[in-house]
Amino acid sequence: MYRVRINDILDKLMPVSSPEEISIVNKAYIYSAKVHQGQTRLSGEPYLVHPITVAKILTDMSMDIPTIVTGLLHDVVEDTYTTIEEIEKMFGKEIAVLVDGVTKISKLEFKSKQQKVAENFRKLIVATTNDIRVIIVKLADRLHNMRTLEFMPEHKQIAIAQETLDIYAPLANRLGISWIKSELEDLSLKYLKPAEYENIKRKIKEIHGEKDKYINDVIKIIRRNLDYYKIEGDISGRMKHFYSIYKKMVKRNIDISQIYDILAFRIIVKTVQECYQVLGIIHSLWKPIPGRFKDFIAMPKSNMYQSLHTTVIGPFGDFIEIQIRTEEMHKIAEEGIAAHWLYKENKTKDDESFKVFNWLRQVMELKDDIGDANQFFSTVKNEVLSDSVYVFTPAGELIELPVGATPIDFAYSIHTGVGNKCIGAKVNGAIVPLRYELKTGDRVEIITSKNARPNKDWLQFVKTSKARNKIRQFIKKESFDTNVSIGKALLEKVIAEHKTELENVNIEKSLREVAKDFNFVDVDTFIASIGYGKISAKQVINRLLPEDVKKKEVKHFKEDKKSKSFTGVIIDDESNYMVNFGKCCNPLPGEDIIGFITRGKGVTIHSANCKNIPNLDPERLIQVKWDDSSAEKRIIKLKVIAKDRKGLLLEMTNAISDVGLNMTNVHIDTTEDGRAVSFFYIEMQSSSEYKLLVNKLNKVSGVLSIEKV
Ligand code: MN
Repeated sequence: MYRVRINDILDKLMPVSSPEEISIVNKAYIYSAKVHQGQTRLSGEPYLVHPITVAKILTDMSMDIPTIVTGLLHDVVEDTYTTIEEIEKMFGKEIAVLVDGVTKISKLEFKSKQQKVAENFRKLIVATTNDIRVIIVKLADRLHNMRTLEFMPEHKQIAIAQETLDIYAPLANRLGISWIKSELEDLSLKYLKPAEYENIKRKIKEIHGEKDKYINDVIKIIRRNLDYYKIEGDISGRMKHFYSIYKKMVKRNIDISQIYDILAFRIIVKTVQECYQVLGIIHSLWKPIPGRFKDFIAMPKSNMYQSLHTTVIGPFGDFIEIQIRTEEMHKIAEEGIAAHWLYKENKTKDDESFKVFNWLRQVMELKDDIGDANQFFSTVKNEVLSDSVYVFTPAGELIELPVGATPIDFAYSIHTGVGNKCIGAKVNGAIVPLRYELKTGDRVEIITSKNARPNKDWLQFVKTSKARNKIRQFIKKESFDTNVSIGKALLEKVIAEHKTELENVNIEKSLREVAKDFNFVDVDTFIASIGYGKISAKQVINRLLPEDVKKKEVKHFKEDKKSKSFTGVIIDDESNYMVNFGKCCNPLPGEDIIGFITRGKGVTIHSANCKNIPNLDPERLIQVKWDDSSAEKRIIKLKVIAKDRKGLLLEMTNAISDVGLNMTNVHIDTTEDGRAVSFFYIEMQSSSEYKLLVNKLNKVSGVLSIEKV
């Protein structure tokens, strides 16, 4: 292997650099040589070869002088006695910050397994987002380490290759540096799947001659046609890189002998207009495969990649993939963010061009929001580093979301308020289910309702952590509020029961003290814990009561308090309860009812003579009454047992419609002893309707029993 020397770097830099810049590179080289003196790599080479190679990679990428100098110095703090302070004194603040960033990342490397990978990654991102050049040095460092991985012990090879595939290759991709991405992927594959790697390598060798002839034939045909239209273009055909062939083989379960699938052609022209012209020529020459055309010129990828992609049925009846782009697009396609050091004079981290890297901003936001390293890692891996879909708002604004995102993710990406009030979605004008997976190009419209609220089930299918966090927040907040109101009601009830004993007690103040005694941060959290049953209201009251007072049961409920109605029920309290009806008795308006405060769920309404009442904790029973002004209909399930006969069902359903009720569902079983057990689901509003219906049904011949279930 050719050993890179400092002169290779200097020769390249001299024509484009000032004498001061050259001298600082020289100084860094001499310093690095001095402090790494005597160290060797596992390959047996002097250690210095590594920083020089890294610096050379950075030079070839046309990075700026501070980055190249950082390449030379990137391991000195980690592996020698040098300190950051020393670097700063010798090379200035900018380079010291860069070296420090790279060092911080290195320190966390390879400790083992997921947790460490995650931790590394977090550090990496934190360092990166301060200065993008840190990650570019790190990528060059990783690239050289991967190229020389053969000297590592086997278990380290696998760990390093996996980490490279998980983190560094996707990062290179996100930064648009596709040549580093491809090389890292191929090298990872070599160590992670050695048999598959060798297999691909061998087969590619076998088809060598055939492949070259095929490529030349295709190029010739394209060239002829471009000439005819007087378009100058650089046409090339090449193999896809190993890892993408491997992925293709796994995904489509094909063999490499289908070589045409592993070739890609590229046409580079002068102008954007020519790109589309060439596309037209190709499509009139060969039939395009529907769904395979992609216009990344009109819609660039988030890493700034631009190109036209199409797949056509080629001259020999095979699928061929063709990319068409301009020279400038090609530069960015290969070098990504690094291409900007070439074109821009003043390169700072605030450079406009970095703002294009929307995902970096995303990552910066995430690192503040997500504390747990593992969660952060998987979030970034799944959302930021995964592929995206691009969809539109009704106003035509482009929104980028991870693959698999749903209308709910879309809604939350617009605004939390839109997400929280979402009840439905239209895609391209048609209503879709909320779990619909958005596709690039979809035009998404969210239907909201002011009474809507997030549904817990959404958590099962949302893709973005923003949506997930916001839904969780809402649910948590809501159940906290519910628990506070329940806790308050429970407390007020027992306080009312002990009204006279508590006459001289400052309840508010005492509550604060008791909350403190129970180690709660504030009174609301304390009251919420009474609401969900962690602490009983009696326990609290006993603390509040003056020592000499003996408690005695008082069985009076308060009346005439400001009340509020929910689901047709008025609760003796102004609090915002969730109301549900006991499945055991399912009371209807008109019946006597009583409320039971359930842990964390609100108030369950029971019929006053429900058989379960005696078993319930009397402390949690509260007075409730029907709200006469409410006309809310509920679906009541009715179980009717009858002797089975012809025409029974018809007569029963007639009875239901005679009373003017609406049946929403029915379910009938027949028993072995000739009985029909029918379940009717009927919309009802009051117990008088129920009574009427029972009377009617009882008149149907053969009916034995009727009950609400
Ligand atoms: Mn290194």
